[in-house]
Amino acid sequence: MNQKFTALWVTENSDKTVTRQVLERSIDELPTGDVLIKVVYSSLNYKDALSATGHKGVTRKYPHTPGIDAAGTVAATTDNRFQVGESVLVTGYDLGMNTAGGFAEYIRVPANWVVKLPQGLTLQESMIYGTAGFTAALSVHKLQHAGLTPEKGEVLVTGATGGVGSVGVALLAKLGYHVVAGTGKASSHDFLKQLGATTIIPREELVEISNRPLSKGRWAGVLDTVGGDILTTALKSTKYMGYVSCCGLVASPDLNTNVYPFILRGVDLLGVDSVECPMSIRLPLWQRMASDWKIDLTQLMTDECDLATLNNQYIDKILQGQALGRVVVKL
Ligand code: NDP
Repeated sequence: MNQKFTALWVTENSDKTVTRQVLERSIDELPTGDVLIKVVYSSLNYKDALSATGHKGVTRKYPHTPGIDAAGTVAATTDNRFQVGESVLVTGYDLGMNTAGGFAEYIRVPANWVVKLPQGLTLQESMIYGTAGFTAALSVHKLQHAGLTPEKGEVLVTGATGGVGSVGVALLAKLGYHVVAGTGKASSHDFLKQLGATTIIPREELVEISNRPLSKGRWAGVLDTVGGDILTTALKSTKYMGYVSCCGLVASPDLNTNVYPFILRGVDLLGVDSVECPMSIRLPLWQRMASDWKIDLTQLMTDECDLATLNNQYIDKILQGQALGRVVVKL
């Protein structure tokens, strides 16, 4: 099929800088795969911005089309679990990393990556969630599965205005938790309160400088999206038998901690990976995000943009830590 479509195209220059442009590609140039999807919406995640700026930890080979999320309709399929015209979504796996991603009007992927759009969500809503929302839901799932219940006390969400953080705040609040939002944005307190946070803590107060092995235990749970010293401090400030989930690294990939939170307080550190999350967890979680866990998605301050605006504005903004809520890309 030689049909043309529009895509964001990132090329690497000889001096290792990258150039991004929106241009025409052809369906023949897509990778082989079982399901060809006409993308209607994608969304911007931090990882997309890394891929779009030449970060080899995310994308090894350029030229490349980023976009770890895509929602649309099946245009062609060799796998009979799916039908042409059916609404589907793909998040994670290798999409947008080393497989041409959702910042394009078409993707072609293995059938095992494809999720049928759950009843209760539109294509646009599924991308307001996107990987960020799914990761927040997976974090909450892991915290709950470990034993976190609302009556155990306050739950801290770090990077609270970001994609994962904002969905995390809204979902935990919906489920009855007492949510404390940690944020670097003084101007976002009303937004976070609207999402359901009862207390806001400025980012600088989330890092304890002292070398004390443990701090006063405050958190029953922590949904951390930033890593680094904030995660170190959160672990030290988690109460006896508390739970801390860890999914991100915007502050730092390093974690300088000691064993005391684990051996003196029995704190559980829970790793969260949405990329390879098995379908046995992924499918029921998407169903919940569309039903009893569905948050008021209109509160997420979602910006909608086209590929050109994504390229000119939003990729830089998320890299500068200026993202507020979610950015949905209309193809
Ligand atoms: P966003 O950029 O949308 O949000 C990150 C938020 O972190 C910012 O909005 C800001 O919130 C805060 N922040 C930014 N810079 C710093 C800093 N230097 N120190 C402390 N806080 C900072 O990203 P996402 O929410 O999409 O992703 C969050 C993290 O989770 C990323 O590292 C991402 O790679 C990771 N991730 C991991 C996944 C997994 O499967 N493990 C899947 C999806 C994302 P505020 O101003 O409110 O503090």
